[in-house]
Amino acid sequence: MTTALAPAPAGAQNAASLAPPPAGITQLDSPPTATWRALHADGRVDTRIELKQLLGGREEVFVAGSDLAEILQVGRFWRPDVRKLVLRVDDQRLTFTVGARSVVGAQRAILLRTPVAFHEGQAWIPLEFLTDVLPELTARTVEVDPEQRRITLGQRRVNVTGLDIRRGEDTTELRLRLSEPLAFRVDDSRLHDLVIKIYGGALDPRDIALGQPQGLVNDVTSRQEKGFALVEVSLSELATRYQSLAEDEGTTILLRIEQAPVTLIPDPVPRGPHIVQTLPPESRGREVNVRRVVIDPGHGGTEVGAVGVGGLVEKDITLAVALQLERILERREDIEVVLTRTDDSFLGLVERTEMANREGADLFISLHCNAWADPRARGVETYFLAPAKSEWDAQVARTENTSTAAAEDLDFILWDLVQNLYIQESATLAEEVQTRLAEDLGLPNRGVKQAGFRVLVGAFMPAILVELGFLTNDDDASRLRDERWQRDAAEALADAIVEFRARMDALRERSR
Ligand SMILES: [Zn+2]
Repeated sequence: MTTALAPAPAGAQNAASLAPPPAGITQLDSPPTATWRALHADGRVDTRIELKQLLGGREEVFVAGSDLAEILQVGRFWRPDVRKLVLRVDDQRLTFTVGARSVVGAQRAILLRTPVAFHEGQAWIPLEFLTDVLPELTARTVEVDPEQRRITLGQRRVNVTGLDIRRGEDTTELRLRLSEPLAFRVDDSRLHDLVIKIYGGALDPRDIALGQPQGLVNDVTSRQEKGFALVEVSLSELATRYQSLAEDEGTTILLRIEQAPVTLIPDPVPRGPHIVQTLPPESRGREVNVRRVVIDPGHGGTEVGAVGVGGLVEKDITLAVALQLERILERREDIEVVLTRTDDSFLGLVERTEMANREGADLFISLHCNAWADPRARGVETYFLAPAKSEWDAQVARTENTSTAAAEDLDFILWDLVQNLYIQESATLAEEVQTRLAEDLGLPNRGVKQAGFRVLVGAFMPAILVELGFLTNDDDASRLRDERWQRDAAEALADAIVEFRARMDALRERSR
């Protein structure tokens, strides 16, 4: 076996969601080890650390959580009971979970190609965290020299240097100070949010932040991305329009936010690029064009899901309904269907949404069956991703979430990372599906609910999870196992999808 102990290539971050699942990877008992040197550019730190190749068949190299904290000179908090490591890097709290691939920070989660490992009583972090993730989440820079076995850490030279907010009577002006002119673009596609993308911008998130609401601005946060900086401005509901322009030879970005009746702000602005736009009204939906639908039959393989009356297993029913749904949709409409699994094979929760993202799906529908201690519980429920509203919702989420080897603690997952972009559409789709299933099939309607389902986290599209019925209820179970009922359920789901698509098409037409 080769023991190259080379770091993962930089820039491979985007490939994270495309990487195949780490099937058949085993953790090595006596892993190949190499001593590296970690130094800070300012000379504060010069440490020797042991990097280990913990996984057989993969060349990813790991650094111990304790070493990582030491070389970054940050606080470390390890919870052995749930095998979570929290590092306080600058103002951020980054959470790693053994067995999981996500690094959860203040604003978002980033996927690693390789899960966090467990070795000698602590968490070991893939080196790609240092090379690819840390520079994205913070103002720190990392250079890795595999030849010299050396990691050099530094601070990025920032060019987005400060933030001022000034409030007038009906206006709030936000200024971003730059040390050089930079191009930028303002994205207003999210209700009550303006996202300023500064090309070539480099910032320290601590500099560009607002502690408390000021005028029409509720909150400002910022973060570093590869090649650009993002500043997110959350607006008061009173804000009706904004104007963005460059001032001071392009070294100031000005956002003028106004509270006024909607009329066009007169052109032109004296110099620099400028954009005048009206904030989207409440009713404007995101553009969702339903062409490709990913159907996800819940569970599979050794992970059977819930087991109900007479040994009926969830994974079989979800697959049967999914296959029917595929047949119906492909026959009926110009909708393309992709199944996350077409046979009784195991598939991790993360891989399911990753597949949907990779396939460019416009909808993600995960099919499940319920189970409950009280055999009287019955009926159909549809969920979209949001913090659980009730103890029941939370309970269902917990049950469905247990299928990963190291189920992620959903409290650590920021549910709204991606899905809140589509929360309106997901809720609409959930309503449509729930109504169809309950009415067409005459099932007790338990309603549309919100809960934190792992399988829905990370889907870049409207996503719902349907609980078709209770395996633990005699009536529901006899329906669920009946092939004709399965087909009727699939028909109802297909109707709902077609209806949802029509609604989205109408919305798009209106917004033209
Ligand atoms: Zn399930």
